[in-house]
Amino acid sequence: MKPIYHELGFNVTCIDTQHIRKDFVASYLIEDNGQAAFIDTGCHLSVPTLLATLNAKNISRESVDYILLTHIHIDHAGGAGELIKHLPNAMVYVHEYGYKHLIDPSKLCAGVVQVYGELFFKQFLGDLIPISKQRIIIAKDSDEVTLGKRILRFIDTPGHARHHVCIWDEKSRGIFSGDTLGVSYREFNISQGKLIFPPTTPIQFDPGVWKKTINQLMSLKPKYAYLTHFNRIDFDQDSANMLIEHINGFVNIANTLKTQPNRVKAIKEALLNYLLTLASKQGVTLDEQQQIKLFKGDLGICAQGLNVWLDHQN
Ligand SMILES: [Zn+2]
Repeated sequence: MKPIYHELGFNVTCIDTQHIRKDFVASYLIEDNGQAAFIDTGCHLSVPTLLATLNAKNISRESVDYILLTHIHIDHAGGAGELIKHLPNAMVYVHEYGYKHLIDPSKLCAGVVQVYGELFFKQFLGDLIPISKQRIIIAKDSDEVTLGKRILRFIDTPGHARHHVCIWDEKSRGIFSGDTLGVSYREFNISQGKLIFPPTTPIQFDPGVWKKTINQLMSLKPKYAYLTHFNRIDFDQDSANMLIEHINGFVNIANTLKTQPNRVKAIKEALLNYLLTLASKQGVTLDEQQQIKLFKGDLGICAQGLNVWLDHQN
């Protein structure tokens, strides 16, 4: 297994978990003075890539002290149970609402099967392995961990999911944002900027709370967002405004289509049109079929999340 990773400076490495495709799901590795931490793990099938990256960078498994999880969605935390088996000294940090699902992933498993289907789960996500509670620490808002000479701080960030924390790295002025600062694929980069959109994943999408969270994160005056999907981007107020605008855009689509008979399908199609229009307005020149392929993985999940959100409005 040859790992693919990107050195970002500040001793931060973006590991391409190569889940489904390249440049789709990242895990981050931070080193500082002989200590190391993973932030998010990808899914179960991503673990060999993470271990191969440690090997390639000559980092011992013993020196990894932390697995910090932004939230427990399977593409972020699904590999934690398998990974920790190979890291004798690591502790897992997770939001209090995620804690019990790491110890007993059966409910999470059922949820994943509902969203992705059993076949996809087995084939592309692998498994969910329980973690013993002795190895899990609850990450509360403002809690910090020390890694070598740097401090990593947790921030409670509901909106995408209630079990979401972001991790603030003062050293790089960067936020490890999981899904909270949106999804932005590098293939859509244009000279004037990037395309950022909100993953409105089931079942806890809450637009009002999410927008508040984004504004709270901006008060840190970050320079970077380390996105899980995908890689580090410069993140300024314009980026935040873009994300908020598209949360509103997605919600408008859901509201407009709420009485449609096949609501999920209708929302999915409208989201695709919305994103293609957006890309074309921004001057993205990528072939349309290629764009559809890149958006495809998110659209069904975003539509399902908006559908659940509509149900909760009643
Ligand atoms: Zn998520």
